[in-house]
Amino acid sequence: MGRNLKKPTFKRGVHPPHNKFSSESALEECPTPDVVYIPLCQHIGKPAVLCVSAGDEVKAGTLIGRAEGLGADVFSSVSGVVKAVVRAKTPTGAVCDHVVIENDGKYECETLPALEDFSRQSVLSRIREAGLVGMGGAGFPSHIKYSPQKHIDAFIVNAAECEPYITCDYRLLIEKTHEVLDGAALLAEALGLDCFYVGIEDNKRHAVDIIERTAAESGLKVKVTVLKSKYPQGAEKQLIYAVTGRRVPNGGLPADVGVVVGNVHTAYAVHDAVRNGTPLYRRALTVCGSGIVHNKNLWVRTGVKYSDVEKYCGGATDDCVKTISGGPMMGFALDGTDYSVTKTTGALLFLGRAEANTLQPSPCINCAKCASVCPMNLMPMYIDAYAQRGDYASAAKYGAKSCIECGCCAYSCPAKRPLVQSVRLAKRIIKEKGL
Ligand code: SF4
Ligand code: SF4
Repeated sequence: MGRNLKKPTFKRGVHPPHNKFSSESALEECPTPDVVYIPLCQHIGKPAVLCVSAGDEVKAGTLIGRAEGLGADVFSSVSGVVKAVVRAKTPTGAVCDHVVIENDGKYECETLPALEDFSRQSVLSRIREAGLVGMGGAGFPSHIKYSPQKHIDAFIVNAAECEPYITCDYRLLIEKTHEVLDGAALLAEALGLDCFYVGIEDNKRHAVDIIERTAAESGLKVKVTVLKSKYPQGAEKQLIYAVTGRRVPNGGLPADVGVVVGNVHTAYAVHDAVRNGTPLYRRALTVCGSGIVHNKNLWVRTGVKYSDVEKYCGGATDDCVKTISGGPMMGFALDGTDYSVTKTTGALLFLGRAEANTLQPSPCINCAKCASVCPMNLMPMYIDAYAQRGDYASAAKYGAKSCIECGCCAYSCPAKRPLVQSVRLAKRIIKEKGL
């Protein structure tokens, strides 16, 4: 399989500046502080159920929270002693238990037993035992995602990394190419496939070359699809359309069109869990923006506070006016840095005045720019207007449920209306009311 020379894409979308200032910064280890605060909710679904008590000794990889229902196991990221369990906020505003562990600085590890075979069932069991979740931001438990009840004939590794600033997947692709491709091949096999796609934007040429060379050397069947650099090229539905030409129906899932999409970091974590028995308690993370002294890509253990990561990168500058967990388009603006790194924390951004939108919203001028860029073909101005009035039934009629929360509308709005927050709220209430 070779490279698809066309540069497919999807309709609409936006072209924000890439601002990938950290792309040349190799991954480095972020020092872990004396105490970590590990949230028991690091995924979509129910928080994990606490299974340690104050005074317990743990190692990196010791189970501290057991998945219940839709969820994933949570592991200690250091060796040391459990000091307490405290309630604390996550960047989304939710409150959950955080396990406070005093780090003994020895970093002793507890690994999962070596696999006797690499059959589909063994790999899927290992994915569950290692607490793997989608690491691109959504945090959907991987053992469920990779056991679809429908026939799958295409697996796409999402290497688009289309959000501005973020470069940790790019660094994994060029520094850990073999591991990422091996993890992707294991996932493809778990789906019953002997080949897979890598969808990657054309601003990552260097990575494209390395992926193709490594795949050829390893004898893997990989079809690299070089996509136009456009936001949100990495959104599932848009990526599937660009790579396969298939349209996921409104309200449908990728499996409805025979596709599963997986993140680069998830593939790396699958490799680590299957080949080395390592549970998920550490991840790559980009720290970037003109409001931080050093732009970096870091390996960070879960439970490390954002403030410690910030300190390691030289601290925020006087010009920093906005801090974001995640990318500038889909991330969460923060009220501080007293939050913990989780399995899904892909970026911490510190934006200076020139980069951040700090303007106050003004009334809609009906310019329709938001509609002209919406990749889901919605009319965000109407959904916003109805949501402001509390008329959620009308917001639902205008397709609020189909919104993928990409932020293209808010990015383009000259009135700086908080359209994503408005549509997100409408979606939640529509779901609660069953509209
Ligand atoms: S309405 Fe939703 S899908 Fe459309 S541009 Fe806005 S955030 Fe994206
Ligand atoms: S882009 Fe902003 S101002 Fe223009 S129609 Fe949409 S919400 Fe109104």
